[in-house]
Amino acid sequence: MRVGFGYDVHRLKDGRKCILCGVEIPSDFGPDGHSDADVAVHALIDALLGAVALGDIGTHFPDTDEKWKNADSIKMLQSTFSLISSMGYHLGNADITIVMESPKLSPYIEKMRSSLAKAMDVDISNISVKATTEEKLGFTGEGAGVSSSAIVLLLTT
Ligand code: MG
Repeated sequence: MRVGFGYDVHRLKDGRKCILCGVEIPSDFGPDGHSDADVAVHALIDALLGAVALGDIGTHFPDTDEKWKNADSIKMLQSTFSLISSMGYHLGNADITIVMESPKLSPYIEKMRSSLAKAMDVDISNISVKATTEEKLGFTGEGAGVSSSAIVLLLTT
C-alpha cells in the first residue's frame, strides 16, 4: 500500500473558464494558469506522484513547456495514472477537497466524480470530491483564489 497527498492553489481571474475535475462550471471567472488550471486535478496528480515518490507535477509537466499551454489537465492525469499503472499499482481510493467561496459547487460534485473515475477507469465509488468554503476568510474567502487538496491510496495490482 502507498499513500500520497497533494495540494494546489490557483489565482482566480475574470474571463477564465472554471474547470474543476475536468468539468466546466458556469462562472464569470476561473483559475488562472499555464494549463487549463484545473486545481483539483493538479492536487490529485501530485497525490499520485507523491504516493510513488516520483516528484511533483512541475517536474512532469513543466509550465515552461509550450506543450502544456492551455492543456487539458485530465490528459495530464491520464498520463500520470498510466505511469502509476505501469509500476504495478492501481487506485484504492481518492479523496479530494476543493476550497472556493463561489460559485456553489455542490450541483457539480457527481459530474466531477464521474469525470475523474472515467479518466482513471475506476469505479465511481472509489472517488470522493468535496467542496467547502473558508467562511469569507483568507484568499479563498475573498475570492482571490481557489485551493484543493487530495489524498490517494494505491494498492499493488
Ligand atoms: Mg496547478
